[in-house]
Amino acid sequence: METALNLDQHPHYPLLFTPLDLGFTTLRNRSIMGSMHTGLEEMPDGFDRMAAFYAERAAGGVGMIITGGISPNEEGGIVVKDEHGNPAFAASKLNNQEEAAGHRKVTDAVHSAAPDAKICMQILHMGPLAYNDQLVAPSAIRSRIGAYTPNELDEQGIEKQIADHAHCARLAQQAGYDGVEIIGSAGYLLSTFLVEKTNQRSDQWGGSYENRMRFPLAVVRRVREAVGDDFIVIFRIAAMDMLQGGMSWEEVAQLSRELERAGVSIISTHFTWHESQVPTIATMVPRAAFTGVTHRVRQEVSIPVITSNRINMPEVAESVLSAGDADLVSMARPMLADSEFMVKADQGRADEINTCIACNQACLDHTFNFKTTSCLVNPRACHETLLNYESTTEPKAIAVVGAGPAGLAYATVAAERGHRVTLFDAAAEIGGQFNLAKQVPGKEEFHETLRYYRRRLEVLGVDVRLDTRVDAELIAGGGFDHTIVATGITPRQPDIPGIDHPMVMGYIDAINGTRPVGKKVAVIGAGGIGFDVTDTITHAGPSAALDIDVFAREWGVDFENHPRGGVTGVEPEVARADREVWLMQRKETKVGRGLGKTTGWTHRLTLGRRGVNMLNSVEYLGIDDSGLHVLVSGQPRTLEVDTVIICAGQESLQVLHKELQERGLSSELVGGAEEARELDAKEAINQASWRAALI
Ligand code: FAD
Ligand code: NAP
Ligand code: SF4
Repeated sequence: METALNLDQHPHYPLLFTPLDLGFTTLRNRSIMGSMHTGLEEMPDGFDRMAAFYAERAAGGVGMIITGGISPNEEGGIVVKDEHGNPAFAASKLNNQEEAAGHRKVTDAVHSAAPDAKICMQILHMGPLAYNDQLVAPSAIRSRIGAYTPNELDEQGIEKQIADHAHCARLAQQAGYDGVEIIGSAGYLLSTFLVEKTNQRSDQWGGSYENRMRFPLAVVRRVREAVGDDFIVIFRIAAMDMLQGGMSWEEVAQLSRELERAGVSIISTHFTWHESQVPTIATMVPRAAFTGVTHRVRQEVSIPVITSNRINMPEVAESVLSAGDADLVSMARPMLADSEFMVKADQGRADEINTCIACNQACLDHTFNFKTTSCLVNPRACHETLLNYESTTEPKAIAVVGAGPAGLAYATVAAERGHRVTLFDAAAEIGGQFNLAKQVPGKEEFHETLRYYRRRLEVLGVDVRLDTRVDAELIAGGGFDHTIVATGITPRQPDIPGIDHPMVMGYIDAINGTRPVGKKVAVIGAGGIGFDVTDTITHAGPSAALDIDVFAREWGVDFENHPRGGVTGVEPEVARADREVWLMQRKETKVGRGLGKTTGWTHRLTLGRRGVNMLNSVEYLGIDDSGLHVLVSGQPRTLEVDTVIICAGQESLQVLHKELQERGLSSELVGGAEEARELDAKEAINQASWRAALI
């Protein structure tokens, strides 16, 4: 499809701000907020909270919103049990009028926030990934990541599923949605019909590809019949499913053409199934890595095509559009991170965008742990009715000591509310530990958070004083009403004999490269920092996050030839530094178990492929010229290493707070300074924002 020329060109992003005429309706620009489950769907006041959440994004300028997935029936979704153990479906399903009435709150809120914004509801039948014992699938094959073995659908069951999709779409229309998106990817019901390994039927719904396409196409036709012509129907395909033996390119192309014929208005390209072993949205994935695949889909059809994945800034979206890769750009997590993404882009204020860093820590990790979604860099996401930064009626002079994530969040929220804020840091730049994190290969996005805060401090007129180590004297003479001690942490020095040996160094030196790291290295502590340090010292060549070819080689993806799933028969190529590394912990649990639910596997797999020795049940006996002496599960070993890097956690830095308290000065601790254990940036920013919202 040709992108229509925008005669009244937008000064910053002409293609992104070109409306798209669908014939019966027009999208005001080319941005889509992609579907994300928020966890609000299941809450008693979920519709009110979703209404506020989506309305804020509509007001923020996005062209079209796709809601989190809503099941067309019980068997397709998650059964949430109430306190008596009874199944209690809230909003995660839509198959009756009562539920449709709830959705009306959402659609009304969006349309009144921005009459020209569109909102479509995603119909998500989870198939073999459903979380209930009535789940169904084409064949009774349990997914590697599924909770149960599904029941094989019979002919009557198949007809019911088709009818339920159509009924659900009709109810969505009655509830005021502008359209629906049917998900046909990710390992959910429709996609499992398409792929041989999950569809082993020999009737008209299985066997040949024509037969395997029959169910998704029947769903589309029946939905179209139910909603009429003037209603948006999007179909989300797995344009590259990243499965060994997954869909071939010819199958993807054929499905796209058939979907157009069946009445779909827009095709949305998705990449991967949840069970695949290629990261597609984590921070080490290059920006816009998969849009080339969308480009090829776009050449097969004449309807608009949406691309997605790791498009997190307007200039990235614009370049994808100008390359002709897609007609529309879906950005899901970036809209969590900044509800005003499009307004800021429109006004030439892209440097004020709070950029999604693709950490997954507060969004997908929460979703898969059945917790309410939010955002590491924006704790207001999905909490719009609870966390608001209202103007203060009593402005105070506030000193914030420490410009790490906690101090930055506190300073900016307090200043936004009208307090007079002075932000101090002993270092020459803001950021605290983020200045270490941003140096880890694959964590380059962390630079964006620092850029955002730098600009935000400027816009809000915060008095920033760097290179200033603060003591109680300075605060006492500063005329402050209150001091926020966000001084962070000091790395823990474990009590191991020989810890002062010259071969021992801390993680700060290892990451900053201020001391040379040898060829045989023991890393003590396998938390997030132990993994990051090990990644850094075993890494070779350019960062995969910055180079799509490197990424493709490292993860075994063949974008050019598109074998089945994009990965079949492609061996990952491991680039690694010439170094032997042992990564250790005392706990008996699997090393890396505490890492993020949706990203931990990528780190474990990467380090495993680089030949890192991961040891648990380790007792550290001592360090001397011969190396590190340990007991591993009670067995003595000497690791003949030339470097020991300590990543054994952190302890709060509270000296200043104690001094201020002694002098009777008003102060409080936030972030790592208050509690270092299990404190990450998500918690630091969240905690500081809530506190600053209340002062
Ligand atoms: P800090 O970031 O430690 O900031 C404290 C600041 O206070 C520092 O800038 C310091 O210079 C300043 N300061 C201290 N004393 C004084 C004084 N007396 N006067 C003036 N200034 C002072 N977290 C995640 O959630 N996700 C990740 O992926 C992640 N990756 C990480 C990777 C690495 C390599 C590291 C080291 C950390 C990572 N973290 C990550 C952890 C995260 O960075 C911390 O949880 C977070 O920085 C804590 O924020 P904070 O503001 O409490 O403290
Ligand atoms: P951490 O996750 O608590 O890990 C500390 C490690 O040190 C553990 O492996 C622990 O395991 C070990 N340890 C603790 N006390 C020890 C002692 N006395 N002697 C020897 N080993 C000891 O902390 P971190 O790695 O320092 O990270 C700090 C924070 O930053 C954490 O909140 C983390 O989540 C966050 N972070 C997150 C990411 C991310 O990608 N999301 C990345 C980096 C950091 P044993 O007790 O079993 O030995
Ligand atoms: Fe993006 Fe991380 Fe926020 Fe999720 S939590 S939206 S990945 S910044």
